[in-house]
Amino acid sequence: MGYVPHPTAIEYESATNRLKMVFSDDHVSVYPTAYLRGYCPCARCQGHSAGPPKFQEITTSAQIEVDDIHQVGSYALAICWADGHDTGIYSWRLLRDMCPCPECMPDGLPEEVQAVDVG
Ligand SMILES: [Zn+2]
Ligand SMILES: [Zn+2]
Repeated sequence: MGYVPHPTAIEYESATNRLKMVFSDDHVSVYPTAYLRGYCPCARCQGHSAGPPKFQEITTSAQIEVDDIHQVGSYALAICWADGHDTGIYSWRLLRDMCPCPECMPDGLPEEVQAVDVG
């Protein structure tokens, strides 16, 4: 297993519901929170079966508002959402794999993320 860059700066832009992270290799990732929440990696959202990550439907703005973010050990972030959901642990590797920048994700965000509309 190689070196996994970790976030050195995290900024939540509540007006636009985006989470911006600067990684230790200077890579900058800007995640719409609907994207992070929709693919929440916790067992409640993903179940225990293998397979591609499932997108959880988002119907309220509280689901994509960040209440609190804290580091878990030396490998991950826990994101607590405004609707009380706080079981999602996002490892550095997962976050980096999810990076939606044009370099990491040339085809852009999945349609289900772009379709999120909470008014
Ligand atoms: Zn979850
Ligand atoms: Zn990227």
